[in-house]
Amino acid sequence: MRTDLPCIVAVCAAAVLAAPAFAQDDFSKVEIQTEKLSDNVYMMTGSGGNLGVSVGEDGVFLIDDQFAPLTPKIQAAIAKLSAKPVRFMLNTHWHFDHTGGNENLGQAGAIIVAQENVRKRLSSEGFIAFLGMKTQPSPAIALPIVTFTTDVGFHLNGDDIRAFHAPNAHTDGDSVVHFVKANVVHAGDTFFNGLYPFIDASSGGSVAGVLRAADRILAMAGVKTKIIPGHGPLAAKADLKAYRDMLAAVSGNISGQIKQGKTLEQVAASKPSAPFDAKWGTGFLAPDKFVEMLYGNLKKK
Ligand SMILES: [Zn+2]
Repeated sequence: MRTDLPCIVAVCAAAVLAAPAFAQDDFSKVEIQTEKLSDNVYMMTGSGGNLGVSVGEDGVFLIDDQFAPLTPKIQAAIAKLSAKPVRFMLNTHWHFDHTGGNENLGQAGAIIVAQENVRKRLSSEGFIAFLGMKTQPSPAIALPIVTFTTDVGFHLNGDDIRAFHAPNAHTDGDSVVHFVKANVVHAGDTFFNGLYPFIDASSGGSVAGVLRAADRILAMAGVKTKIIPGHGPLAAKADLKAYRDMLAAVSGNISGQIKQGKTLEQVAASKPSAPFDAKWGTGFLAPDKFVEMLYGNLKKK
């Protein structure tokens, strides 16, 4: 069983029962697990999006921060690796399961960095249509105070850390982060490893953008590159390739049927994801929900 399952259950509960049920979720049982990827880069999992951490002389660089109640546990897990506080916190995108700790970390002095659309979305009321979920504007301390449009570099802990914008992918503000020397990539939610992805069209996401992001990461990854997905276990290049091919096949099938004028009911009945369901369809999105989401996204074009 995956360690991110509590998050997935929580998100499902949020979708079905709306925000109050979500707020009552119990984070007390969540444990933060740490996986060493290189001399000084780590992946952490708990509940919500996977974290990336770089430690060293220059301070702690953290990617994403899950949910607010988990901040003390995340800080305790980081304290086992470094005596230094979080100096930079980079959000891969605006979703609540990746930015929930922003307020706590901002108050603790971290400089929050993200693509500029993340700040725009966190600053205003949000709505994730597919989950039927409204979000409130974040307080100023939780907002990214450094934003970028296309890319940004950090020169920390003996590495070059390059973050680049993947336009209109999972959302309109996704960043992919490359630890060049450590040979690690954090793909954010442009990559769900081993589970059908959620693509948030109401936040500017698109299937084409997710495929472009995957292609860009595949072009820069080697066989030894370690890829941290937004959700799911640590991945290698072959896992990302399988994900990309799955998404291209299912979305291509559905696009073809949309061009023929097929309704959602007709497309669903044809079971376009069937060859992939055993491997990808037991996580966050069940096969029928995945097909429904893709149909909605592709029909809009
Ligand atoms: Zn997300």
